[in-house]
Amino acid sequence: MAKPILLTVDDDPEVLRAVERDLRRHYADRYRVLRADSGSAALQALEGLKTRNDAVSLLLADQRMPQMTGVEFISRAMVLYPDARRVLLTAYADTDAAIRAINQARIHHYLLKPWDPPEEQLYPVLDDLLDDWQASFRPPFEGVRVLGNRWSPRSHRVRDFLARQQVPYRWIDVETAGKDAEVRAMTAAAGGDASKLPLVQFAGGEPLADPSLAELAVLLGLKTRAETAFYDLLIVGGGPAGLAAGVYGASEGLRTVMVEREAPGGQAGLSSRIENYLGFPSGLSGSDLARRAVTQARRFGVEILAPQEAMGLRVEGPSKMVTLADGTEIGCKALVIATGVSYRKLEVPGMERLQGAGVYYGAAMTEGDSCRGEDIYIVGAANSAGQAAMYFSRYARRVVILARGASLSATMSQYLIDQIRNTENIHVETRSQVTEVHGAERLEALSILCSESGEIETVPATSLFIFIGAAPRTEWLAGVVERDERGFILSGPDLLHDGKRPNGWRLDRDPWLLETSVPGILVAGDVRHGSIKRVASGVGEGANAVQFVHQYLTTV
Ligand SMILES: Cc1cc2nc3c(=O)[nH]c(=O)nc-3n(C[C@H](O)[C@H](O)[C@H](O)COP(=O)(O)OP(=O)(O)OC[C@H]3O[C@@H](n4cnc5c(N)ncnc54)[C@H](O)[C@@H]3O)c2cc1C
Repeated sequence: MAKPILLTVDDDPEVLRAVERDLRRHYADRYRVLRADSGSAALQALEGLKTRNDAVSLLLADQRMPQMTGVEFISRAMVLYPDARRVLLTAYADTDAAIRAINQARIHHYLLKPWDPPEEQLYPVLDDLLDDWQASFRPPFEGVRVLGNRWSPRSHRVRDFLARQQVPYRWIDVETAGKDAEVRAMTAAAGGDASKLPLVQFAGGEPLADPSLAELAVLLGLKTRAETAFYDLLIVGGGPAGLAAGVYGASEGLRTVMVEREAPGGQAGLSSRIENYLGFPSGLSGSDLARRAVTQARRFGVEILAPQEAMGLRVEGPSKMVTLADGTEIGCKALVIATGVSYRKLEVPGMERLQGAGVYYGAAMTEGDSCRGEDIYIVGAANSAGQAAMYFSRYARRVVILARGASLSATMSQYLIDQIRNTENIHVETRSQVTEVHGAERLEALSILCSESGEIETVPATSLFIFIGAAPRTEWLAGVVERDERGFILSGPDLLHDGKRPNGWRLDRDPWLLETSVPGILVAGDVRHGSIKRVASGVGEGANAVQFVHQYLTTV
């Protein structure tokens, strides 16, 4: 495949040459660098590239050009190459215009002239943007194929697993793909038995009939076994809090291992767009955040075991021993528990049968494309439900949010309420709750109770996404670490009852902030009693927990 293109535009020949030189120096081995001396010449070049089906990954345009400004050029170029990363080159005096352009032309970044030294001012920014572009770029497909049925919970589980592990795959729905050559070839190779769906085929391999997630993990080369038996720091949970603890722990010299039940990213990895995380003015998707954090953690040497679940904990003197789902045990000097929360179950008739067959917990972004042109329902009134509504509104004909309360304002951020109000195909039905889901093999209808009128209406539906609060899953810590009545982990001052330290606490000091009822076991993020359920709070607590780990390690 031809190298993707970096296109730079500037009317000043000297600046244009300088940009081109710096781009070539760093990127010539992976990208083709092209230049144009005006917006119109660049647009003409892009049209030619589009006709030849060439990939363009970066548009880097100077703002001040006489006939067409950088923002005008980028706005027009976006029509041809909507996925290319867009960067504006500005003088200091034009900073305000550049900030406005983040909204207008949805530029990804603005760079100030001069950008010397490029190693500090130019390449880190462009490397980051190009990594993002590469992550979403789909070259001619050579990866994993999944052949299945949209309404099969097993197919959904495999697709969800691959998506959360950030493995690009091609989904082929037997119902809509019909019997095209690709479907025939895959089913024939599996003995013609389509009841064995889903079939998963790796490049050059034979299709696997209905593989378990553990089998897929092995084939994908995911690491589930620890390299050694004992670590300075063990982190359970790979959401924002766990990942932050990993980054800080490993970067500060601790031999660190992380155990994650599903895929790193946690709940944040399920978010279609996080807009309130500091440093990302145009927002970022949860999977991007997860990918960046995992890269960062691995770079510092965190060993990530996923999928792998912590099932039990025992304390042996100063050592903490965690039992994993495969029966093995890992020991550590200090433990950070960052297991977050999971969605509560909606307990209404029909749910057991239809989960994964039209009824999903969380955003199930893998289903977006399948919902094209359909009416879909979302249960919940918090930010996660609002984000999902915005996400699905791009695919569905109509998105209905069912909220129990009288309005969304008590539970959802104003920016999301505003976005929902301005999106024509989203409808909010307050004082509404689902009382039953109907369908034999797949969701076909919902019964909805209106608490104001007391009436129950049954409406046809193909997809229901549920976001109803969350509960910690901390049973594996019972009898070792103190928890509140709902299972959230107590720490610091919350452990002092009438000024008394927790049972079994033998140290001559109170538990530190974020320290649990066992010295050297810290808690961070959503699973902590009294935590603020936000990405930034989790990240902050993960980082702080590591400070206490250092403090603790000086005492053992
Ligand atoms: C759809 C959605 C959208 C959201 N949007 C925003 C937003 O825009 N802004 C914002 O600030 N917040 C948002 N949030 C909230 C935010 O994602 C959470 O507050 C944050 O992820 C909490 O981080 P955490 O690390 O504490 O826990 P989690 O993200 O819940 O991660 C915990 C991890 O631990 C793993 N785990 C659990 N038990 C075990 C075990 N026994 N063994 C191994 N691993 C285990 C889980 O698989 C999970 O990956 C959103 C949440 C959702 C669901």
